[in-house]
Amino acid sequence: MASVTLKNVCKSFGAINVVEDVCIDIADGEFLVLLGPSGCGKSTTLRMIAGLEATSSGSISIGARDVTDLEPADRNIAMVFQNYALYPHKTVYENLAFGLRMRGVRKADIDSRVRRAAGVLGIEPLLSRRPRQLSGGQMQRAALGRALVREPEVFLLDEPLSNLDAKMRVQMREEIGRLHGETGISMIYVTHDQVEAMTLGDRVCIMRDGHVQQIAKPIDVYDHPASRFVASFIGSPE
Ligand code: ADP
Ligand code: MG
Repeated sequence: MASVTLKNVCKSFGAINVVEDVCIDIADGEFLVLLGPSGCGKSTTLRMIAGLEATSSGSISIGARDVTDLEPADRNIAMVFQNYALYPHKTVYENLAFGLRMRGVRKADIDSRVRRAAGVLGIEPLLSRRPRQLSGGQMQRAALGRALVREPEVFLLDEPLSNLDAKMRVQMREEIGRLHGETGISMIYVTHDQVEAMTLGDRVCIMRDGHVQQIAKPIDVYDHPASRFVASFIGSPE
């Protein structure tokens, strides 16, 4: 696990600024939720932390390392997407093992890491299945497993529950909370769902039009919303 620091991070596509002067300090082991309406710049911010998108200006550090100019593979992060992005023709075991094999991890170590991650997520019975033989919740568990085997310092999750039905969403939400509790890995979790944000986050960072509006504990966001926008977005009385 590691702290993550964004200093004056900006991103523009052509003439349009989609992330402007974002400063966020995420503590070691913290669960930070990026919350805001569609199009406010959450995914772009997360993708810059992952290194999938370059910053236009500003800097990003993970632990003591400035990672602003590092490739995604050198950042020691793992990212989970809403569409799972599993390899359809590989078994769950192979999906979890593949990235480790590519990095040259020894076969015995791969096996123990895959089985440990599968144990944490309760997917040992599914290791020989292929993605099409899984339910949505099981696919999302496999996607989490594939991120977990990499033993990252930071977990980045972009709306990981949005393709699940309501019941499975609640179950997986609890699972992700438990995963954080058990591993202590720093997590940055993007959502537009206020309930998810308020139940999962140690702190919530509320964004609007590329700007951070407020960063605070859920209870403080409720009790002391920084603006009318925050109040109406999270549904607290002003
Ligand atoms: P969110 O995840 O909060 O819904 P995004 O970060 O995906 O928002 O997008 C923020 C804004 O940036 C949106 O207006 C989106 O259309 C724009 N955007 C995102 N990616 C690109 C891109 N590659 N090129 C141009 N505009 C983009
Ligand atoms: Mg998004």
